[in-house]
Formats: sequence, C-alpha cells, structure tokens
Amino acid sequence: MATRTEIINVRLPLLDENHWFTLTVENGVWVGVDPQSQQIYSSSHQSVDGWRPNANLAVELLDAEGKVMLPGLVDSHMHLDKAFSLNRVGNESGTLQEAVRNYAAKVASFSKEEIRTRIRKAALQSISFGTTSIRTHLDFHVRMGREIALRTLEAALEVKEEFSQYLTLQLFPMIPPAPLTAPEIDLIEEALRMGVDGIGGAPHLSPDPKPSINLIFRLAEKYDRLVDIHTDESDNPEKKTVAIIADVTRQFGYQGRVTVDHLCSLASMPDDEAWGLIEAMRAAELSSITLPAANLYLQGRADHFPVRRGITRVKEIRAAGIPIATASDNIQDPFHPFGRADLLQIALITAYGAHMGSACDIRNLLGMVTEVPAQILGLTEYGITVGNPAKFVLFDAHTPEEIFSDLPERRWVYGGGHWMRIAAPPAHWEVTELTTAWNDVRR
Ligand SMILES: [Zn+2]
Repeated sequence: MATRTEIINVRLPLLDENHWFTLTVENGVWVGVDPQSQQIYSSSHQSVDGWRPNANLAVELLDAEGKVMLPGLVDSHMHLDKAFSLNRVGNESGTLQEAVRNYAAKVASFSKEEIRTRIRKAALQSISFGTTSIRTHLDFHVRMGREIALRTLEAALEVKEEFSQYLTLQLFPMIPPAPLTAPEIDLIEEALRMGVDGIGGAPHLSPDPKPSINLIFRLAEKYDRLVDIHTDESDNPEKKTVAIIADVTRQFGYQGRVTVDHLCSLASMPDDEAWGLIEAMRAAELSSITLPAANLYLQGRADHFPVRRGITRVKEIRAAGIPIATASDNIQDPFHPFGRADLLQIALITAYGAHMGSACDIRNLLGMVTEVPAQILGLTEYGITVGNPAKFVLFDAHTPEEIFSDLPERRWVYGGGHWMRIAAPPAHWEVTELTTAWNDVRR
C-alpha cells in the first residue's frame, strides 16, 4: 500500500471551478489541496486511465487529466436490512401499504445471517459507487419479541464494526407506533444503549401520530441521540405530521438535530398550506431528505390521470434555506424494485422529478449527495481539506454536466487508506469478503 499518493490536474467543482488542483494524501489523510495556475504536464505522473496500483511502490504519482472529484458520497437514507429482499417479498400493487404488510409478514422468517448478508452486500455496492457514509434506518419489531427485534440491529452493528475503516455507518432503528408496553419500551432503550446513532419511525402511518412522536423525542433526549423520521409519505394533503414534529422539536429544544424524510403530502396540497408548513420546518431548524426513486414509484397509485408524482417540493424547501438532501431509500425490495445504491442515479432521478437541470441546479444536486447530507449526519472532518481523512470518488467526467449526462461507470474510489475501486466496478462486488473485493480491485 502506498503511503503517499499525489494526483495532479483534478477538478473540484464543490470547491473552485476556476482552477485545477494538485492533491496529496499521506497515510490516508489529506496533506495537500493546492490550486494550480495551469494544467501540469509531468512525465513522472501516470494517467489514471489504465493505471493499476503496485503494492511495491511507496509513492503513487497520478494524473487525473481534468477529471472531476467529489468527497465520498453520503447516502443519508437507506434501508440496508431490506435491500435485495425482493426475491423473498413481493408487492403486486406497488403501494406502500402492501409493501409494509408483506414485509411485516415475512420478518420473523429472516435469520440474522440473511439480514447481515443483505446489509453487507448493499454496503459494499454503495462503496463501489463512491459512497463512504450511510445513514440506514432499521426495522425494529419490538412487538415480535426480543430475539426478532434485536437480530436486525445486531447484524447491522457487526457490519458497522467490520467496515468501520471504509464506511461511516449510522444506525437508526424505527420505533413502531405508540402505544407500546413497558417491556417494549425497555427493549428500545436496550437498543439505544447498544450503540445506535439515532432514533426513527414512521408516525404518520398511525391515526394519532402525536404520542409516537413524543415517545421518539423523549427517548432521543434521554440518550442524547439524533432524530430522523419518515414523515408524511402520503398523497393525502391532510397529512401534516411535519407540523407536529416541528412543534415537538421546539418543545424539546431539539432544533438542528431533527431530520424529516419524504414529505410527499407537501406536493399534494395548495401552495399556501405548503408554504406554512415549510415555514414551520424552517423555524424549528429541521433538515429534510427527498427519496425520489421510491416515491415516484410508490405514490399516486390511487390516482386517475392526472397522477401525482409523490416527490416533495425540493426547490421550494431549498429556497427557504432548509437543508435538503437526496438519498436512495429502498433497493430491490418490496418498497422499490429497482436501484443499485448509486447516488448518481438518484441525483439524476431527482433532477427529473424536481425539474432541476440548470447549471446551478446541477451543482446543487451534487451538494445534495455530498455536503448537505454530511451536515445532516453531523459528519466532522468531511470534505477535501487538509487534515481530513481522504475519502473521495473521482469520475471519468470533466464537468458536472458530463457527470449527469454520462453517469460514468468508470470511477476511482478511495477511503480508509485504500483504493476501493479503480475505474471499472469490482468484478464481484456482491462477494461476501471485503478483502476479496479489494484484492479483486487491485488485480
Ligand atoms: Zn425510508
């Protein structure tokens, strides 16, 4: 493994589009981020095209030839435990309701080993596309007893530990709707003590969401955890759970620590009502995440034409100064049958779904899969800055526009002091052994 890597002629659109950069990594940490006055021509640097690492060399000198680099992508809302379960759980109607029902019916039959295999595969695949940080929600079926409730969490904790060098993995168990019995609440508290990062749920699914929201905040406050809630994932314009969440956020003094996801009903209601809710979100300092792939698929199923599209008011939320990220949500499971854990694909779907295609929009979209979700996750040491851990993805594209039009398959991904992908995707990113995957990359 090289202890020093220098890359010349890199484009960093999030930092400065007027210069190319020379970047230097030593022992997995950025030690140089230097703008160039012009393109550098160097016979000692090797083009990244066609380059393979040499384990015997301590220094790597590479030429990116003007390719675009982003800091490691941040997938702020996934369900790694459900990923790739479509072969076990179907969804004929394509509705959220059937997905919830069918998945719950199968939960008891999933072994811990099966769940861990799915989490690992989804995490590896995410890494291979350039993601180095993930927040995953996790099923937490306390009503099915201790063993079933905890097996998902235990599997996720094991993968979090195993991949810790390469991937920041945040775990958010989803609390079922209230009322819960005292032993069920004890079980949630046990989970909170096991090392989860935050607490989530989907209170809008219950007819009276207030008690569920209060419980989430009471437990989050007790254990000093972040809150991230599936919110108003519905076409029903009367669904305004976000208003309650904003109120409770202020009651608990939790401003800046709460994220609301989906917000589909905002897109179904008249402008004045939506703007009132967006103002409430802003006043409570909520952050937000749109999940366009899943919602374009799941929402509007009961409509006759014109059919609502489900995706929230992305540009309006952003214009109000509220952080909004875009993320994968579900991958190849009954909630969403497609997807491959590639945030570029999600950014492009966001561009279509939210009508974002101007030069400014495209740069905002890059922020929605990097800096904005990094802020939502509370990541420290994020970004291509001297002193930070070097985590990045270099694309075979020369402008942000090219990234969106080409969705380049050739990417170079680095993190934890290792190259994790070099140009082509690893031939077996579904392999179960991470080390095998890395070796395969280097072959
Ligand atoms: Zn979700």
